[in-house]
Amino acid sequence: MSRIILKLSGEALAGENDGAARNEKGAVKLYDEQTIAGIAAQVKELHEAGHEIGVVTGGGNIWRGRLSDNMDRTRADHMGMLATAINSLALCSSLEALGVETRVQTAIEMRQMAEPYIRSKAARHLDKGRVVIFGCGTGNPFMSTDTAAALRAVEMEVDVILLAKKVDAVY
Ligand code: UDP
Repeated sequence: MSRIILKLSGEALAGENDGAARNEKGAVKLYDEQTIAGIAAQVKELHEAGHEIGVVTGGGNIWRGRLSDNMDRTRADHMGMLATAINSLALCSSLEALGVETRVQTAIEMRQMAEPYIRSKAARHLDKGRVVIFGCGTGNPFMSTDTAAALRAVEMEVDVILLAKKVDAVY
């Protein structure tokens, strides 16, 4: 048994969406249902194998960059962090649909929707066999969710960091 941090980029969660697709209600289709359900099934498999799992979600499928040159970087990064929160709630729901007990903790407080990130509480959830999804990255602008994955990994004293992303990166 090991404790794992899994970093899921927004693009990995979105799957084969071209960005133009709409759902039946006319809203932008953020996810390919089969992809997110497939990811949830793989997390469940790891979970059932006895591993303790924390997931750090990216947000690149929803927001990246800036609206225009007029938008400052901090505002743009706040939008990016909100995007990771949306992905966290989506993944939580896919895991719960498979019967996996899951908690979302966010680095920026949004208490009506998710627990605030508290290191000891997150560790306790993992001890109890709950999957913990970490949203809003580090909570700070000018950072990436890869940094958040590394940060949560050391805080949670994990054995392994797994990265799922489409773009190859330096890590
Ligand atoms: N972000 C941030 N601080 C963090 C983590 C993320 O400001 O600690 C913002 C940043 O704007 C970033 C966006 O959230 O572009 C989405 O994160 P990331 O690009 O890492 O997602 P991914 O590429 O993995 O989908």
